[in-house]
Formats: sequence, structure tokens, C-alpha cells
Amino acid sequence: MLAIAVVSFCAVGCGGDEPKPRNSSAKAIADKKRRVNERRDAEAELEARKREMRRRLKEPDLVPPNHIPSPRESRTFADLLEEPAEGEGAADEAAEKPLDDAAIAAAGLRKLTSKHLTLITDLPSSPAVDELPQVFDLAVPQWIDYLKLDRTKIDDWNLRAVLMKDKEQFKAAGLLPSGLPEFLHGFARAGMVWLHDQPTDYYRRHLLLHEGTHAAMYTALGRAGPPWYSEGMAEYLATHRWADGKLTLRHFPRDREETPGLGRIKIAREEFAAGNATPLALVLAYDSLAHRQNEPYAWSWAAVTFLDSHPRYRERFGKLLAHVEQDDASFNVALRGLYEADLAAMQEEWQVFVASLEHGYDFEKTAVDFTPGEDLASGAATITVAADRGWQNSGIRLTAGTTYNVAATGKYQVADQPRVWWSEPGGVSIRYYQGRPLGVLLAAVRPDGDGVGELDGGQPSALLQPTTVGLGTEVSPGQSGTIFFKINDSAGELGDNWGNLMVEVRAKS
Ligand SMILES: [Zn+2]
Repeated sequence: MLAIAVVSFCAVGCGGDEPKPRNSSAKAIADKKRRVNERRDAEAELEARKREMRRRLKEPDLVPPNHIPSPRESRTFADLLEEPAEGEGAADEAAEKPLDDAAIAAAGLRKLTSKHLTLITDLPSSPAVDELPQVFDLAVPQWIDYLKLDRTKIDDWNLRAVLMKDKEQFKAAGLLPSGLPEFLHGFARAGMVWLHDQPTDYYRRHLLLHEGTHAAMYTALGRAGPPWYSEGMAEYLATHRWADGKLTLRHFPRDREETPGLGRIKIAREEFAAGNATPLALVLAYDSLAHRQNEPYAWSWAAVTFLDSHPRYRERFGKLLAHVEQDDASFNVALRGLYEADLAAMQEEWQVFVASLEHGYDFEKTAVDFTPGEDLASGAATITVAADRGWQNSGIRLTAGTTYNVAATGKYQVADQPRVWWSEPGGVSIRYYQGRPLGVLLAAVRPDGDGVGELDGGQPSALLQPTTVGLGTEVSPGQSGTIFFKINDSAGELGDNWGNLMVEVRAKS
């Protein structure tokens, strides 16, 4: 029960890169062994749950993907909300109790107050800590706008936040009741959040904004949706840029230096490289225990970012907000209803997104049009491929068993720093991206039909296994389908490309 409460309200993975202990004492070694064992157990359990989710996703009667009991818990997240779990009562009590300023001062803690935040901390004064209430106040109007919150419920809202380096002083001041669930980084209720200090200024702010998002949703909406949505939204809104007194929530990091300690893109890239990328359907099916690990935070963030940024899916994604106040099953039925027509395409695009996830990812320039192409009427056709876009549909359908000559010409820009880089379809041989020359022309024949189709992501999209065309090659598709083209470049660096290629596709007689 305790574990459920912890996870329901985002205790563990409200985490970024974990700091590495450097202590080599016997106790530290024993601690480390214990942690390794715990992690191994947790990973085994996660794998078992993933297998169970995959199995359940294939059952024909399945409607709401989130209605998947974990091996140790058969109740839904919704049930848990109806019935406060052990620890939440203590948390709510602590949130409602008037602050004892004398006890706070006696414990050597500082209290910093703004319109919407009362921050109690044992951290010494520093600009990055002392400005947190100001940062929080700047986040509030952005939460109201984006989450369409009722202003009257937020106008007088003042969240109590404890930011702790040493827990003991907070216990002494009555701010960390013993009934509170165990948590690793942060824990949120409507009226109060608890945060452990973090190694970077960025991640400390991020964690406050993450828990603040939960608290704002609980306060104004009563609930925050199923686990992937609740945690994904908190991560999405908390990923921010803070510069020159201006706060921007929902910021897509342009490089690693912008969000030190966050590591969401790094986790997703490493998972993909190791063959462990999580299909979108499995992210949507996360149960209330999934977020004990860091990886589900990365995938939940990625899913919300993808759905809210993709030109074809974002408008419908916004409509989901209206269903947050319903139980999780109704929320997921609404999601299914909104995306029913292109669920397969959405899952295939998720694969393309995950495979090319980079800092500065450009959603506009990488959106894929899956419309099936048409047979070559006169045996040959020439099309234009833009250098500054991701996969482009040629409109040409190739037939299995036929061999085609594909030839490309053109000169186009593939970078503008430190100087303009020009490329031809053979690519720039002294610069590489993902193992191939930068700028080289790639092609993939995507079989007709629903693409990846399967609910759990099915087989990899053909767009994940391109062939190199360069200046020219022969293509003999094993399956009939539409041929797609793009030049080889990072999806985060399309903005500095310019120009076109002319590509001729000709059936060999
Ligand atoms: Zn959370």
C-alpha cells in the first residue's frame, strides 16, 4: 500500500541523473551492493510487467490501455485516488497545519515567500535558491493558460514547499511527518510539495516545477490523469528555460548545457540504442507502479512532448485536458476515440521520432505523410527532395520483384557553422551522422498498408532501416510500397539546411 502511494504521486523518478556516491567505506560498499540488488529486482519486476502489458495489449477485448493490473496490484489508479492511501493522510494534514514560524527558526530553517509559494529550506542563501519563489510565480500564469485552469481556484493559491538537504531539521520542525511515504526526489499533494535538494540549479528548479505542476492540477482539476499523462505533463511543463528573468515552460532542450542534470533525451537515446525503446502503446499503458524507475519518466515526457508538438496530433492532444477530471479508464477511452483513425500511423511516427530524437528536434520538419503512392505511369518520374526536411513521401509506388534505378543530382547546404557546408547527394565524406556521411541521400520503401499496425508497436518501421542512395543505386523492393527519401542529417539540425535534390526513379526494362 505504501509503495502504491509513493508512486501514485511521483516520488521516485521525479528524478534526473542520479549523483554517484564516492564513499569507499565498508558501509558504502554494502549500501551499493544492496542498491544493485534492489535495482536488479526492480528491473526484473519491470520486465515482468512489460511482458504482461504486451500480452494484455494483444487481447481483443482490451479497450482502455491503462486497465492493466500489475502482478502485485489489481486495483486501478482511479481506485487509489478514491481511497487515500497510507501516508497521504499525513501529507494532507501537514499541508493544512499552520506554519510554526518559531519552530522553523529554531530548527535553523529559512522561509521565503512569494504570492504563490512558501518555500522552507535549510539551503544557505544563494541566487539560484532565493529566486525560486519568483520562478514559481512566473510559472503559475503558464500553468493556468496551458492547463486551462480555473483562475478563481488559483488566484489565492499558495503552495507550501519544503526543499531539504538534511531531512532531520525538517522532522524537528514538524514539516516531515513520519507517516509520509518514502520518496527519492519529490512528492506532491495539492497543498504541499517535498523536494530533496539536487546537484544542479537547473534540476532543483525543474523538480520544483514538476511537483508544482502536479500540485496545480490536483488543486484546480482534482486529479491529473493516468500515470503516463500525469508524469508526462509534469515533466513536459517542468522542462524549462530560465534566462534574463524570463521563464519559459515546455521548452525543448536545444543542447545538453541548457538542462544540466535532466538527462531525459540521453535516457531515451540509450534505451533506443540498446534495443529497449518503449512502444507508444506501452507508454500509454503504464500502471501506477511504472514510475519507480527513471526510464518511464523519459518515455512519458517524450510521449507528451511528441503528441503536443506534432502538427497532426497536437490539436487533439489539447482536447484530452477536458477528460483529466474523469477516471483513468474514461480518459483512455477518450484518447482512443480521438486518435482512432490514425493510431497506427501515430505509432509508426513515434518510432521515427524515437529513432532520431536529438536536442533541438524539429517536429514541423520531420512530420511524415504516409499517403500511399501511385505506380510509375510512364516507367520513370523525377521528384524534388528538400534538404531541410525529414522523411519525404515521393508519391511513387514501387512493385515487388521489379528493379528500379534511383539517381540523384543537386547541391545543397547541410550546415552553416563554422562556415557554410555544401553537399551533393553522395554526402560530405569528412562529416558523419549515425554512421553515414552527412548529407548523403537515403531511401526506404515503406510497404503499403497500416505500417507498424500492431498495438504494441509491432515490427520496426521501414523508415528505421534506410538504404544509402548517394548519387545513384538500384532498388529491388521485397514488398511493394511507397519510396521515401531524406538526406542524412540530425533531426535537431535541419534548420541550417537549404536547397533541394532532384531524384529520378526509373524502372529497369
Ligand atoms: Zn511526478
